[in-house]
Amino acid sequence: MAALAATSSTSPSPPPVAIRQYDVLVSAGHEGRPASCPHFPKRRCNLGAAGERQWTPIVADETARALRASGLSVAREPADFDGFFDVKAAVFIHFDGSDHPCSTGASIGYHDSGSSAAAKLWRDLYSRYFPFRFMPDNFTGNLRDYYGFRQVHAARGALVIELGEISCPAQRQWLAPRLKLAADLIADSIRQLIAKK
Ligand SMILES: [Zn+2]
Repeated sequence: MAALAATSSTSPSPPPVAIRQYDVLVSAGHEGRPASCPHFPKRRCNLGAAGERQWTPIVADETARALRASGLSVAREPADFDGFFDVKAAVFIHFDGSDHPCSTGASIGYHDSGSSAAAKLWRDLYSRYFPFRFMPDNFTGNLRDYYGFRQVHAARGALVIELGEISCPAQRQWLAPRLKLAADLIADSIRQLIAKK
């Protein structure tokens, strides 16, 4: 008891939180919820659009696999994670859902203007394939103020990527057989972003 008391009196502040370094952070939207929600009580326990939670890990796993295959280090995270990351690029993978089916499409969210080049790169690449509409960047507050941005410093950009609106039958049907394609395109755009001078 005495030893314990002595130890705690000489360390008044908690140890600093380690910042983990990787080339890329890949997070699967809503993955791990609702189990993770009680640990992050300040966040809204948003479970995503119907079917979204089944698809985001598939895309995130393939994105991580493709990036690692090209020699990059990847932190593959679920929706909620502890601590802080210092990376070159970060991507939070989502699909949109709407109460008014087919009113939205693909979109991109980011918090700082330093990520706009990353957003343009992704939009230019994905819009060559995705045959539905692309919403304006940050068209909802949730995109711009995504909780994950606060835990990641990404030198080249951090993006929330909505790959399409899965409450829209036509978009869902197009996306279903193309989850691997979407992942490979995400990996491509990240490689280009990191290689950029
Ligand atoms: Zn989502």
